Amino acid sequence: MLKNTLSGELEEFKPIKKGEVGMYNCGPTVYNYAHIGNLRAYVFSDILKRTLKYNDYQVTQVINITDVGHLTDEGLDKIEERAKEESKGVQDMANMYIKKFFEDLSELNINVGDTIFPKASEHINEQIEMIEKLESRGFTYKTSDGIYFNTAEYIGYGKLGNINIDELKEGARVEKNNEKKNMADFALWKFSEKGVKRQQEWKSPWGVGFPGWHIECSAMSMKHLGEHFDIHTGGVDHIFPHHNNEIAQSESATGKAFVNYWLHGAFLNLKGEKISKSKGNLVLLDEITEKGLNPLSYRYWLLTATYNSPLSFSWDAIEGTEIALNKLHDRFRELPEGGKIDDNYRALFKGFINNDLNTPKAIALLWNLLKDNDIQPGDKKATLLEFDKVLALGLDNLSEVEIPKEVLGLVKEREKARGEKDWDRSDELRNKIEKLGFGVKDTSEGSKISKI
Ligand code: AMP
Ligand code: ZN
Repeated sequence: MLKNTLSGELEEFKPIKKGEVGMYNCGPTVYNYAHIGNLRAYVFSDILKRTLKYNDYQVTQVINITDVGHLTDEGLDKIEERAKEESKGVQDMANMYIKKFFEDLSELNINVGDTIFPKASEHINEQIEMIEKLESRGFTYKTSDGIYFNTAEYIGYGKLGNINIDELKEGARVEKNNEKKNMADFALWKFSEKGVKRQQEWKSPWGVGFPGWHIECSAMSMKHLGEHFDIHTGGVDHIFPHHNNEIAQSESATGKAFVNYWLHGAFLNLKGEKISKSKGNLVLLDEITEKGLNPLSYRYWLLTATYNSPLSFSWDAIEGTEIALNKLHDRFRELPEGGKIDDNYRALFKGFINNDLNTPKAIALLWNLLKDNDIQPGDKKATLLEFDKVLALGLDNLSEVEIPKEVLGLVKEREKARGEKDWDRSDELRNKIEKLGFGVKDTSEGSKISKI
């Protein structure tokens, strides 16, 4: 069962093609580091993907990289503006944030080995082709600054999440432009300003410019998953306007249904406010690891709530979860190998995660299993490993000994020093780590820590 924003109901999942799922997760806009709120969206899509795989579906997952076209309410390109502020090349800046994004995904055990990551700037032709299609079908019009989608031409505009179009206010995530025919209309293609050379601009049938944001997700999802596919996700802030716009332009271009299941993750808040790049109240995953906390404690903490309940971040919460995670790891280490999966627990687990990804219940079940005297210790180990195929709390990759928080913090600091090519500091930190009884090896997958 999955909660489908399109119907507002819990629905049984039925794939378009037997045994296969096409899934598109709206990806990061790479004009800043992904914060832990953004990362919540990808822990959610990871649990969804792992759950689908656990149910034996073959999953094709696409996460886009927005490196052009995400517009502010003033209609400016966030990425181009940020690169200007930082006096950087757009692609140099984007690549730096993309690299860090991948590192964060890996630290959170987010499985992307087989994921497709298309970049908006590398799919300009596909976007132009879709705008041409919309133009030939009469869904577009031109203003002095670009080509717009006419939302009045699409019957059912705003259907996702039942948005009341009459109550929209300009500027409230609706691009400003007094030449627009309807408040909700949005740019498909923006013209470069006369006399201004942009870092990212392309020729098009309408003039030199760049695509608006929404069109990239329609064009790239269809390229990789087809015109009609199974699942599309994002945070709740994407329901309007982004996903309603995607639906309107996609269904107008093809004349058929776009996506069957729309799922939305709730916000991560800090002191009552949404964590957001534009508000600047960011917490990064690095801040968690620099305190010597295991990034998987953050993952674990997220899983103690359902993906669609808002969560409020606090350091106390993560530190408390770290204690639980360490206890889980310790208990797991003590269990002997060679057992078999307990069928009853497996069925309960599957029931919970298949019920709209109920990870809090799955985690409670995991602790019940550990306490259950009727299950052999070896069987507990095998069953926990089974649960970890979805929860991914690092059980399959556990070192023999627990690594103290202090050592983890020093290793993280050393990685940073190495990143900055500060070799003296790196050696100094290695000595400190060795004094605490641990060795550190630099491998292509990062630092490997062992007891000496
Ligand atoms: P962005 O990089 O801003 O385009 O956002 C990437 C993803 O993070 C989207 O799915 C957003 O909906 C999601 N997101 C942004 N802020 C938060 C937050 N505070 N909590 C949860 N998800 C968020
Ligand atoms: Zn998107």
